[in-house]
Amino acid sequence: MLTNEQLQSAADKFMALTGGNLAPYLEACVHCGQCAEACHFYEATNDPRYTPAYKLFPIAKAWKRNKSPLNWLGLGRKIRSEDLEDWEDLIFDSCTMCGRCSAVCPMGIDISSIVAVTRQAYVAAGLGPKDLMQAAENVREHGSPLGLTSDKLVDRLEWLEDENDIELPLDKEGAEVLLTVSSIEMMKYPDSIVAMGKLLNHAKVNWTFSSKGYEATNFGFLSGKIDLAKLGLSRIVEAAEELGIKTVVIPECGHAYGVMRWSGANFLGRELPFDVLHITEFLADLKRADKLKLKPYKRPITYHDPCQVSRRGGAAEAARVLLDGFAEDFREMTPTANFNWCCGGGGGVQAMASAADLRHKVFKIKMDQVEATGADTMVSSCANCRLTMDESIAHWKWDHGLNSLVEIMADNLVE
Ligand code: SF4
Ligand code: SF4
Repeated sequence: MLTNEQLQSAADKFMALTGGNLAPYLEACVHCGQCAEACHFYEATNDPRYTPAYKLFPIAKAWKRNKSPLNWLGLGRKIRSEDLEDWEDLIFDSCTMCGRCSAVCPMGIDISSIVAVTRQAYVAAGLGPKDLMQAAENVREHGSPLGLTSDKLVDRLEWLEDENDIELPLDKEGAEVLLTVSSIEMMKYPDSIVAMGKLLNHAKVNWTFSSKGYEATNFGFLSGKIDLAKLGLSRIVEAAEELGIKTVVIPECGHAYGVMRWSGANFLGRELPFDVLHITEFLADLKRADKLKLKPYKRPITYHDPCQVSRRGGAAEAARVLLDGFAEDFREMTPTANFNWCCGGGGGVQAMASAADLRHKVFKIKMDQVEATGADTMVSSCANCRLTMDESIAHWKWDHGLNSLVEIMADNLVE
């Protein structure tokens, strides 16, 4: 049972955040139910509780009681402890903030934005999955959700340079491009860090990593701890300013791209002093400029679109530019690109142990999609998707491969 103070904190946060563009969403739902079958959690379980519109409930009730123009009708009610507790798994474990429901909603309601602000109200009340909250706090204390401190970054880059006979520049003065990392890559998939370095070196890009602003993932945003979202962003912005960077490249991480590219300026309250590109966009520009020489990749592959790059990020085309003429037997999934199914672990869901069973159920949709293509391997350009899918592949003992787009490209460079 929550205390009155906790409930008031949540209510205050709800009210503080329901201005501007969010208010119409809270009045607009016509309960048509079209969003249900767009959501992978509903699709995988057939449980009506996972209907996306249902996630509006806690904040919409508070809105209708306090701020709605029709509040005199008494439609809303005070936020109750049981409301917040009952909705917690819907707001955290079963929303990857993928935006697929909004793509079909006839009223254009952006459920993922509502979920993001509802998470902030949960944080204000001291609620939220402990593992996700701890991952976010690690950003404050250790520079990254997975404890990738600046010292560890420097050590691991040196180790990767030695192991792979490659130059991975760090804090290079005069560099034009700052390449950021996802600590998921650095700790679990270091080959993708090497792959990005190989591709940029091959194309003779004047680039660097920074020991001050390196972590692209933003668990502050995912958890609803907005002070940490700003801290993560400002570390990169300050490092880029110090080095005089023109372009910040976000690695294979979906939400990192969305937070920096589409929300960064708003969070920080100022214009970003550089361009922001996802690694697939940056490489696509290099390929268009004929600066990447690749040997053909012959095995049948398909591509998993990370929601925050393709649907929410608007950059679905970049991966196709890279695959076109390189992957000779590339097979699109159905549905694909802007309407692809989520991996099941975005929006911080990957970091919640309580959501593991649900994630695995959702991954069955992806398995069916891939099998329908006949491809034996799926590639993607998000380390969080990759980790989610790797865990589910192991869970189901699925006999298909999974790789990163930058890795298969780097493995096929013409030296
Ligand atoms: S944003 Fe994605 S996960 Fe969340 S309710 Fe909508 S479809 Fe489901
Ligand atoms: S599709 Fe939109 S209007 Fe229809 S129930 Fe879902 S959120 Fe409400």
